[in-house]
Amino acid sequence: EMAPLTRIGLAGLAVMGQNLALNIAEKGFPISVYNRTTSKVDETVERAKQEGDLPLYGFHDPESFVNSIQKPRVIIMLVKAGRPVDETIKTLSVYMEKGDCIIDGGNEWYENTERREKEMEEKGLLYLGMGVSGGEEGARHGPSLMPGGSFEAYKYIEDILLKVAAQVSDSGPCVTYIGKGGSGNFVKMIHNGIEYGDMQLIAEAYDVLKYVGKLSNEELKEVFAEWNRGELLSFLIEITADIFGVKDDKDEGHLVDKVLDKTGMKGTGKWTVQQAAELSVAAPTIAASLDSRFLSGLKEERVEAAKIFKAGGVQDIFVDQEVDKKKLIDDVRQALYASKICSYAQGMNLIRAKSIEKGWDLKLGELARIWKGGCIIRAIFLDRIKKAYDRSPNLANLLIDPEFSKEIIERQAAWRRIVCLAINSGISTPGMSSSLAYFDSYRRERLPANLVQAQRDYFGAHTYERVDMPGSFHTEWFKIA
Ligand code: NAP
Repeated sequence: EMAPLTRIGLAGLAVMGQNLALNIAEKGFPISVYNRTTSKVDETVERAKQEGDLPLYGFHDPESFVNSIQKPRVIIMLVKAGRPVDETIKTLSVYMEKGDCIIDGGNEWYENTERREKEMEEKGLLYLGMGVSGGEEGARHGPSLMPGGSFEAYKYIEDILLKVAAQVSDSGPCVTYIGKGGSGNFVKMIHNGIEYGDMQLIAEAYDVLKYVGKLSNEELKEVFAEWNRGELLSFLIEITADIFGVKDDKDEGHLVDKVLDKTGMKGTGKWTVQQAAELSVAAPTIAASLDSRFLSGLKEERVEAAKIFKAGGVQDIFVDQEVDKKKLIDDVRQALYASKICSYAQGMNLIRAKSIEKGWDLKLGELARIWKGGCIIRAIFLDRIKKAYDRSPNLANLLIDPEFSKEIIERQAAWRRIVCLAINSGISTPGMSSSLAYFDSYRRERLPANLVQAQRDYFGAHTYERVDMPGSFHTEWFKIA
């Protein structure tokens, strides 16, 4: 018996694909699913039954999968980025027809999406690169979606995306048409770079509280839970509080203390920093977060270095004065918040610079809006960013928005205290320190760049400008000196 045609298809049934397919089915859109390894198809069909007889139909071969979808056909792919995407496109596109559309929902490099969009166009197929954030839970119950590429294709599935995305009560579904080309993937990549920054800053706050403040895991849980009731309210602060509450199931104590201090990564943070360099946009907090992951990977070297420096009298942690715990906690909260403003300022400026380069016309406030729910960086803080861009869509930097500048001014004393305390204690806080340096560089009318420029002119005759008269000058410094 022939099953009725479905509204949409999804290929790639690992963590993300399986959950997004169930989400789409649950919202009332009949969906066809396919995966190269067919056991995952059966697994997904079984889950659809168990989770409420959802309208989800599994296929073991690509041809019947494609043919089961109503025309124009739309297929979302959620496979590993890179070659697997090209291979999946090849497998499916032979059965697709003019006007059909393929959507890549993976963390793909934006230029790959632009290349594929062109290749698809030649076959009369439409293409979208759609960032999907929120991990397993987000995919299943409401992710933040960042679709970019063919506007026509976006319009055709907008009704699905609006229902499937996370819903935020005062600002709507967490999806918007991002822009042309690879803009959806690019914005998702920057989202991940910002996520690196947030995680690093939280880890530094933890480090200072644990080693300088000597807070126990119970106290840390309390502190983060308390912070999650205020301006720092966010998914990452919430899960951090949870983590401090988890006991080790294999031994005594808390699990967090047993986790090896070596951070994994999949590449989007590195891409973000590479793009920052390409665009000549300063993103020191995000770069520091990436560097911290690299250094964390050198566990064995760090163990050796610790031995050498301890033997030479360098203590692990120097704390010579008694710390006032309550004050320390409050200062760390303020330092974290101020640092976070700098990190987001960097991320948003990266997006703006790329938007100008590519002519994407991205709306920064709208991006902050769709990150308010569903995704990993979701936070009450994003509402402030949205408002800043509503006030001034061409704002040069979040730091000079009237609200954010006020917040930074109020917090700068605490921020400096924490960075100094960390430095004097021998605790590295690269995220907080580089955020502070970013702020201090950005707000200073005069930087020592005059000297660098003089050096460049001295050895390379690169010329310089003057503060007091127009024109370009060169001096034979060595003759005068
Ligand atoms: P994944 O581990 O990145 O990829 C596994 C999927 O890719 C499987 O369906 C696998 O099929 C398929 N695949 C791999 N090589 C293939 C090939 N050569 N041809 C056809 N299919 C191939 O899955 P994931 O974690 O669900 O992530 C999917 C995408 O979403 C990725 O781009 C990821 O970066 C992104 N993402 C993930 C998360 C997350 O929390 N996991 C969050 C946001 C975005 P088989 O079963 O046949 O091997």
